[in-house]
Amino acid sequence: MKILKFGGTSVGSSDNMRAVMKIITAEREPKIVVLSAMSGTTNSLVDISTKLYDGDKDGSKTLINELKNKHLTVVEELYESEAFKQEGLKVINEQFNLILQQTEGEFSEVKEQIILAQGELISTALFTYLLQEKGVKTALLPSLDFMRINEDKQADLDMIKELIKPILDKAGQQEVFIAQGYICRNAKGDIDNLQRGGSDYTATLLGAALGAVEVQIWTDIDGFHNNDPRYVDNTKRIDNLLFVEAAELAYFGAKILHPLTILPAKDANIPVRLKNTMDPQGEGTLISNETTISGLKAVAAKDGITSIRIISDRMLMAYGFLRTVFDIFEKYKTSIDIITTSEVAISLSIDNDKNLKEILAELNNFGQVEVETDYSIVCVVGDMVSEEKVFSKQVFSTLEGIPVRMISYGGSRYNISILIKSKYKKETLQRLNKLFD
Ligand code: ASP
Ligand code: MG
Repeated sequence: MKILKFGGTSVGSSDNMRAVMKIITAEREPKIVVLSAMSGTTNSLVDISTKLYDGDKDGSKTLINELKNKHLTVVEELYESEAFKQEGLKVINEQFNLILQQTEGEFSEVKEQIILAQGELISTALFTYLLQEKGVKTALLPSLDFMRINEDKQADLDMIKELIKPILDKAGQQEVFIAQGYICRNAKGDIDNLQRGGSDYTATLLGAALGAVEVQIWTDIDGFHNNDPRYVDNTKRIDNLLFVEAAELAYFGAKILHPLTILPAKDANIPVRLKNTMDPQGEGTLISNETTISGLKAVAAKDGITSIRIISDRMLMAYGFLRTVFDIFEKYKTSIDIITTSEVAISLSIDNDKNLKEILAELNNFGQVEVETDYSIVCVVGDMVSEEKVFSKQVFSTLEGIPVRMISYGGSRYNISILIKSKYKKETLQRLNKLFD
């Protein structure tokens, strides 16, 4: 079985939904199709929730109405027969009534989660009707019945495996099984989600749970690019990547994939193929544990990084100091991205500064602490130490004149991470691009 995931743009209009239908019915073997909400929908649902937290019920109702109208327009165009159009309208009316119900009384996290889930619930219902109208044997698999996260908000793959099998059996023989991306239930059984962009993650989790032969992520670009097209001209599609390389790129800024997507696929060794809905014949990018490309493959950048330096004589010829420092970050559930050490100082970077104040207060007990914000991590990915060529020299020489705050080299042979002030990001990405010529 293959898993095919289509993003918000791919289901963002009636024309695009029909294009998706063509792609998934091109091969007749059974498949699971994971869908996002229609583009812009989750953003609107977030805005609606924000208004409700702010007590602005009227404002929320205006947004709800706008979003409903957008969906009604799609239903008007999507179906040929009156019967299916009526089914579509029924879905819209029911789900938007449910959203409206959440505006009553005091707003809460549970209500917010109900609202956020509606985008995927609606897009999958509408799309299922579209396939059924065309005579494609299709069943809707309710993701809220099998996608699970645990107390730590981590995906619970064992539970997903256990829950999905009987649901799939019960759905019987179908050509297409549709499932909602992004949404799940948490350890309490309440509706929750896999974080923004999480539909990709739904697809690889399902792939791992079912031992799929391949997971395809269909978006509106032709694959992973070797640099960030927002800052660099003439970026090129990468034909294939190792799981580890794709994971680094997704985590360090390449917007095409949710950062956790690669993990379940890597663990279960299921190839992930990125494809373009607008150009289905295009090669895309294949992510697996084999690669035909040696050397440098891509660079990506992640903003909003804070750097912290702890200077302490206590480190000199002592052991256990790093553990003490890491314990503080663990206590505040803050992950460290880059770390470098000297005999009397440690520098590290974090992207989540929610508990920064508390962390700094504790670090101050161990030495002098310096903090700076507005950094970016530029991540260079590829095989840095292949037999034929060592790339570190080229990478470092392109950075001449750019004040580099930290460099992490050798953590993995597939990555060099560089911490720079965000104002140097564009230039750094452009200079590194020369390495691909
Ligand atoms: N609809 C969700 C979002 O916009 C999940 C996804 O599209 O992957 O973040
Ligand atoms: Mg996405």
